[in-house]
Amino acid sequence: MASKKVQVQVVVYRSLEGCMKAFGETKLGHFEWMSADGKKYRMSLKETVRLSRAAGCWAWAEDKKAIHLWMGKGCTKEELFGVLAHEIGHMERPFHRTLREEQKAAKYERVALAAYGLMPRVWRRRRTGN
Ligand SMILES: [Zn+2]
Repeated sequence: MASKKVQVQVVVYRSLEGCMKAFGETKLGHFEWMSADGKKYRMSLKETVRLSRAAGCWAWAEDKKAIHLWMGKGCTKEELFGVLAHEIGHMERPFHRTLREEQKAAKYERVALAAYGLMPRVWRRRRTGN
């Protein structure tokens, strides 16, 4: 099976606020987003920052150009893997900020996390020689 690598630029921010500011919606004083089940959320900036800090990492995709990422001290490798896969899912548009795009991003995340979960026990069984 040929490997098809995804070329994605990742911009890492030192602060969550900086990452959110680059997203642009901080000017509004609130964040709006849609979950994969179509539920729309509108939250104050303060509440969004609190929840994102608790999640450990936060990111957004700039069209097909780059993933903008913040990683807190509590960010685990698994969480980061899921967030990156989710954002790559957003970059595989044609849809922009639609329910269909969010569902696709959530699916990418689920699949990536399932593969991530399988890795340790499958990797152990790989052939090391020819
Ligand atoms: Zn999303």
